[in-house]
Amino acid sequence: MSNIAEKVVVITGASSGVGESTARLLSANGAKVVLGARRKDRIDALVTDIITKGGSALGCKTDVTKREDVEALVKGAVDTHGRIDAIVNNAGIMPIAPMVALKVEEWDRMIDVNIRGLLYGVAAVLPIMQKQKLGHIINLASVAGFKVFAPGGTVYSATKFAVRALTEGLRLEHKADNIRCTIISPAAIATELPESSSDEATRKNLREFYKIAIPADSIARAIAYAIEQPPDVDVSEIVIRPTALDF
Ligand code: NDP
Repeated sequence: MSNIAEKVVVITGASSGVGESTARLLSANGAKVVLGARRKDRIDALVTDIITKGGSALGCKTDVTKREDVEALVKGAVDTHGRIDAIVNNAGIMPIAPMVALKVEEWDRMIDVNIRGLLYGVAAVLPIMQKQKLGHIINLASVAGFKVFAPGGTVYSATKFAVRALTEGLRLEHKADNIRCTIISPAAIATELPESSSDEATRKNLREFYKIAIPADSIARAIAYAIEQPPDVDVSEIVIRPTALDF
């Protein structure tokens, strides 16, 4: 992973799961990670741990639904390191419920975090990467972005279909700027994500479904693989699921 050393990588949703694992793996391979999430205590603990182990990390309390927070996170990276090599737009939520339950506030939150928050990440880095003529935008989608996860995951799937469309559109619009774009589509990763459903019955079903879940580190390795490629190699899309899963 020698191409990872010294790279400046911003990660949203770094306080748990895939974001945390990715931060640990990239920093262990010499990347300078800049980490955002709302749970500042967890970000601070992670930053301290990475630094104690000899790595480079900065943390910033970031709510991706606030454009100014995401701008500040990216500005922190550029002010400290003078550039940004990659952003991992990873923050996401998955409150599952049938449409008839009319959990309109949860629909709004999914749109705000999974789509709008990701776009704020794009908006924050794009002018910088265009100027640098170098950059890498890595967006977390899902297998639910290929196949509608219903009943229950209809709105979540809609957000992840959107992530795939946005990332492919970005790639087409910015390949001439030497900006790489990668869609990462996981399934059933052992993280806190299934617990983001407000409905206890749903959480119970998801716990059952997640019995075959694979570790977050498997996604971190996929992200590292995409980052470590030379600048003229764009790993456009990776799908990772538990071997035994049909979804
Ligand atoms: P986790 O719940 O462990 O992590 C989600 C992260 O998103 C947390 O760090 C959380 O931090 C952050 N987050 C949530 N809301 C916000 C917000 N408003 N602003 C900033 N950060 C926010 O789940 P995963 O690691 O599994 O999820 C990572 C990504 O992977 C998501 O996009 C998810 O959709 C995707 N994914 C996961 C799958 C799985 O099976 N686990 C399958 C397919 C895709 P905090 O609460 O501190 O803000």
